[in-house]
Amino acid sequence: MFDKILIANRGEIALRIQRACREMGIATVAIHSTADENAMHVRLADESVCIGPPSATHSYLNIPAILAACEITGADAVHPGYGFLSENARFAEILEEHNITLIGPKASHIRVMGDKIAAKATAERLGIPVVPGSPGAVTNNIDARKIAAEIGYPVLVKAAAGGGGRGMKVALSENEIDNALSTARAEAKSAFGDDALYIEKYLAKPRHIEFQVLSDGKGGAVHLGERDCSLQRRHQKVFEEALSPALNLAQREKIGTVVSDAMKELGYLGVGTVEFLYENGEFYFIEMNTRLQVEHPITEMITGIDLVQEQIRIAHGASLGYGQSDVVFAGHAIECRINAENPETFTPSPGLIEAYHPPGGLGVRIDSGVYAGYTIPPYYDSLIGKLIVFGKNRNECLMRLRRSLGEFVIEGIETTIPLFSRLVAEPDIVNGNYDIHWLEDFLDS
Ligand code: ADP
Repeated sequence: MFDKILIANRGEIALRIQRACREMGIATVAIHSTADENAMHVRLADESVCIGPPSATHSYLNIPAILAACEITGADAVHPGYGFLSENARFAEILEEHNITLIGPKASHIRVMGDKIAAKATAERLGIPVVPGSPGAVTNNIDARKIAAEIGYPVLVKAAAGGGGRGMKVALSENEIDNALSTARAEAKSAFGDDALYIEKYLAKPRHIEFQVLSDGKGGAVHLGERDCSLQRRHQKVFEEALSPALNLAQREKIGTVVSDAMKELGYLGVGTVEFLYENGEFYFIEMNTRLQVEHPITEMITGIDLVQEQIRIAHGASLGYGQSDVVFAGHAIECRINAENPETFTPSPGLIEAYHPPGGLGVRIDSGVYAGYTIPPYYDSLIGKLIVFGKNRNECLMRLRRSLGEFVIEGIETTIPLFSRLVAEPDIVNGNYDIHWLEDFLDS
């Protein structure tokens, strides 16, 4: 097993990875910017190295500094967490050139799935159903108009390099297509430096349902069921649950098998998430994330499988050692993303946490690095913690979530906790009756 893992991340996910390492008897190295000197992930690590100033470009994205930190501390593997360098194929190659193991997939798989056009073509080749759309990039407006007419309006223009919901524009009719193409092209160019676009059928009322996969790269692969992440704001997930209230066992087994077979065929290594839109009983692949996801704990709660420890084992060369029939789903889990933001305007609210009292009790898990007296720096993502609640069934889970939100005290900054308290009182949420537009409609009303 690895002796020492460097965690190339910060905040709650850095702590989450440390916990997995500690239980496995592996030493941990934290890296941090000057703004994160007092962060919990630095305090709790076995060793820490300051790698640069506050700006992420010069610290958490600074590859030479991270390599130097590996050299200085003698780390033999790097866990990238999510965000930052976690889906950077070049980073994966550089680590390999330096004989440091990336706890993640092969660079080639990161690269192919990072290009959404190539990802879609790969998914299709592997027998995964995809959203009807252009066969590849659309290079001019005449072709685009022809393809859109074939698919049928409304269509969605998307960026091949897209992420975080950017570079996406809907065209409701032929009158809107030129405008959608030019806006999406400009947005993609400025956000990703790559203006390749493709066109997809715009699904009117889908749910976002994603399958967690675990694959050892030598023929062992399982799926760990799905997460329903339909509650989104600006195409960003806010509240997730596992399993989805919209699927039954037969549907889950059918698409889950397609996905795990595809991972075997691909020789995929580690954890991954295959994302679908789901409408009228049909699944449509949209993308694959080749890393651990923010919402992974809800899958851990219903399967009892520690996804980070599995990542570490697989990266070290172990076989999965179990099959699909060994994966048992029990109970229900929900995650609320607690952001340091105004719960109505979503304006970031960094600053000093004056009081902090998290909820507890049976079935309540908090993944967070904050504490009373900690100052949230303004430089990074506003996610400050995740409230994850487990229940024997969905009803118990919702009751426990309501109780936990009522106990949660964070003073000195604004958080999204009041939004979740409103959500759990909504009949549509209680009944599991929502799609990807539900939350924005609710916030608008
Ligand atoms: P990103 O990588 O930017 O997050 P995704 O392709 O994963 O982009 O899509 C993000 C969200 O955008 C989806 O969860 C869904 O809400 C919406 N979306 C994406 N493709 C479609 C589509 N074809 N029709 C309707 N909504 C879509």
